[in-house]
Amino acid sequence: MTGVSGLLKDVRLANKAAALTSAVSFLLVLLACSGAFGFQESAPTILAIVALATGVTLVSLLSQVQRLFLLQQAVKTDQKTLVERASHDDLTGCLTRRHFLETLDERLTGIRAANMRRRSSEDLTLMLIDVDHFKMLNDGFGHPCGDAVLQTLGRCARAERGWITGRIGGDEFAILVSGSDHRQIAEQARRFAERLGEEMRQQEATRAFHGVSIGIACAPLHADHARDLLQKADIALYVGKRNGRGQVTFYHGDMERAHAEQRHIARELHAALLLDQMELHYQPIVGTNGEPAAAEALIRWRNGMGGSMAPDKFIPVAEQSDLIDRLGEWVFRRACRDLKDSGYPRISVNISGAQLKHDRLVPMLRRVLRETGSDARNFTLEITETVVLKATHNVMGILREVREMGFLIALDDFGTGNNSFSLLRNMPVDIIKIDKSYTQRIEDDKIAQVFVSAVCEIAKALDMIVVAEGIETEAQQACARLAGAQRFQGWLHGRPAPLKKTTALPDRSLSA
Ligand code: C2E
Ligand code: MG
Ligand code: MG
Repeated sequence: MTGVSGLLKDVRLANKAAALTSAVSFLLVLLACSGAFGFQESAPTILAIVALATGVTLVSLLSQVQRLFLLQQAVKTDQKTLVERASHDDLTGCLTRRHFLETLDERLTGIRAANMRRRSSEDLTLMLIDVDHFKMLNDGFGHPCGDAVLQTLGRCARAERGWITGRIGGDEFAILVSGSDHRQIAEQARRFAERLGEEMRQQEATRAFHGVSIGIACAPLHADHARDLLQKADIALYVGKRNGRGQVTFYHGDMERAHAEQRHIARELHAALLLDQMELHYQPIVGTNGEPAAAEALIRWRNGMGGSMAPDKFIPVAEQSDLIDRLGEWVFRRACRDLKDSGYPRISVNISGAQLKHDRLVPMLRRVLRETGSDARNFTLEITETVVLKATHNVMGILREVREMGFLIALDDFGTGNNSFSLLRNMPVDIIKIDKSYTQRIEDDKIAQVFVSAVCEIAKALDMIVVAEGIETEAQQACARLAGAQRFQGWLHGRPAPLKKTTALPDRSLSA
């Protein structure tokens, strides 16, 4: 911009100088003609003066024209820079969302026009690239780290031959590539993700990078309008993320129904939590003599029409977003408020693995305990075996912290993962809950019997309590007890029920 403003100043100055020069030249000629200089003006002298004055005026005019030309050039360059700035994202250098969508729209209009004229046209592929766990990266390692990841991603994508790259959301990039050969495109996408990972590992600022998920849709195969194509690539991206992230996923027609259903569940669940329409049911956990030792809090969701949805169906949806944190908080608050009226000495609350992936769990537990005036020593947190066995250093830290607060930790559904007994030794765990798939086979399945006995032996050595889940019959109860289990939970002792129905605790003493 200094170029233009500097030149403009020059031009204005030169304008004044040119006017002055012309005026002086004109005056000189006039004076010469009127003999004011005192010498005998001859025609050649006057001519010389006129020529000199004209020459000076011409030179000044010419330099003025040159300046004007330079000014025009500078204005053009500035305009180009401005347009480029508006069409490119400052941080990553990729096209802005608006310009990317315009480009996509233009290319798709070309495809549609060619199709209408029954002419062949080159297919087009749209890839959506999303940084896995970007929020965690930004929150945990700071915004400079997030920015460095986005910059590196933008730079690497722009370096790919034939890719048109746009940044269309916070951590979402879109790429346009010619062609639609699934195998080739998938290969390109995978190689890109690999190269990107290597690049990120080489820089200190981007070491925390986890990877990217890529959703792909092709035109005209999947859609030939920009909005539809984007939506299909987005669905593929969503499905890929749900299946474990770090994946390259092509859109497929079947995805649409499942996706719509998931979105519907997420929306409804969100509303149900806001309107306090969830319910918490309690199922008793009893000791060897049938005495109530605790109750497990199990969430229930009934819609207004009297129907209900199993937690196994809506919890995985909640786990896809921060809905799981709100649901977890709702459950724990409700359990704290219910404890006194429940008559149970202890309540067990399920904690999803997704709640352990960031640092929000501990502050939430502390806040709710404080707000409800509750004591952590009255609660057990149930965490599924697979989550605990895959636990990162961070997750182990969280488990130790909540234990120090006074909570007991239970390993839920034990036996469903690739469990390793030796891992149990280092786990900050107090209770092992044997999955119902073992207790329900315990009567006549030798392997189930040996497994339950082994778990009980190890638990005894490690000073842990064993709960047998899913006890439906007296025979299962007897076998589980014989194997060494100290606590029992299942329909035999009571089904999950709202508080008023469970306050009448089972009074039957088990002789087994
Ligand atoms: P879970 O924590 O292992 O809970 C035990 C499940 O077994 C419950 O299913 C319970 O109703 C069922 N059950 C109890 N006794 C018997 C029995 O004798 N026979 C049979 N067949 N089933 C029995 P539910 O309530 O459908 O919950 C399923 C899973 O959903 C739970 O498994 C837990 O992982 C999850 N879940 C439930 N409530 C919550 C919650 O508040 N938060 C979280 N994060 N997860 C929850
Ligand atoms: Mg449980
Ligand atoms: Mg369980």
